[in-house]
Amino acid sequence: MNYQAEKELALKIVTEGAKLCQRVQQTDAGKAVKKADTSPVTVADFGAQAILCKGLIEVFPDDPVIGEEDATFLEKPELAGVRQQIIEQVQQTIPTATPDNVIDWINWGNGQVAERYWTLDPIDGTKGFIRGDQYAVALALVEDGEVKLGVLACPAFPREDGGKGVIFLGIRGQGAIEIPLEGGTSQPIQVDHSSNFEQLYRIESVESVHSDRGVQTAVDRRLGLTYTAKQMDSLAKYGAIARGEAHFYTRVPLPQFKGKKENIWDHAPGVIIVQEAGGKVTDLEGKPLDFSLGAKLGNNHGVLATNGAIHAQVLAAIKQEQ
Ligand code: AMP
Ligand code: MG
Repeated sequence: MNYQAEKELALKIVTEGAKLCQRVQQTDAGKAVKKADTSPVTVADFGAQAILCKGLIEVFPDDPVIGEEDATFLEKPELAGVRQQIIEQVQQTIPTATPDNVIDWINWGNGQVAERYWTLDPIDGTKGFIRGDQYAVALALVEDGEVKLGVLACPAFPREDGGKGVIFLGIRGQGAIEIPLEGGTSQPIQVDHSSNFEQLYRIESVESVHSDRGVQTAVDRRLGLTYTAKQMDSLAKYGAIARGEAHFYTRVPLPQFKGKKENIWDHAPGVIIVQEAGGKVTDLEGKPLDFSLGAKLGNNHGVLATNGAIHAQVLAAIKQEQ
């Protein structure tokens, strides 16, 4: 299977989603409201989910979609203004969209895991988006519990030509590429296979509670790292590893979040992009990530993404420090 139709659609809708995010960022609608778990969400998160789901409904109506956002949240009377802004933003991309269409498209993302499904995070790294840092419009196709295609639109990702905005794409068996967000020629990308820890970079979240920094620093010391870790919001970290700018990324659950499992949409697209760029991704016990269970990686403990060459050494160091 070459996934040509999936690739074309995925690239088109993440680009449209990213453009909506960029537009919203210029306006007041880029401000956040709080979800029930107190995490921030913006007009752009809902707007991008609507646009991605609309494309998936049209081309692959039989594929379930599991997205981060849920429009029932928007039924609160105090969010009527936010709801209206979402509708208007989506209508700028799709002029024929009715208010009901927009809500139905967002809720299309409430699907269940099946043999074949899509998972999406309309804005991964919402905190980065609000700060003006990195974020990603993220979409992946999963079959038989394994990611087959992943795409990340990263509008703030710096390019070699001095511009900003990169799309990363990985397809099982076909390699990984990057494309400028505004279009143009695609370039194959490869991890940097070096294994001299003195020259390597770990990359971590900007948010300190998303992974255990105590363990991470102890692992760095054990491995002999000399550079301090790079920091980046969102799945863009996987892009940085896939293009050789960083060498490993660990997600070590903090003791206060014991039992909390990672969301599938926070990893799926990044996993295939790093794998197809020559890297490796497992959990902290070395097990493959299992995307067959539901919205969470329920069978896995944490995440480790590397350039491949150092994977076993990093796993061993984490084992000793946890
Ligand atoms: P990052 O930008 O790498 O810090 O990741 C952002 C994602 O972290 C968000 O999309 C959340 O789903 C997720 N997240 C929020 N709280 C936690 C937590 N305590 N542990 C792990 N991930 C989290
Ligand atoms: Mg996320």
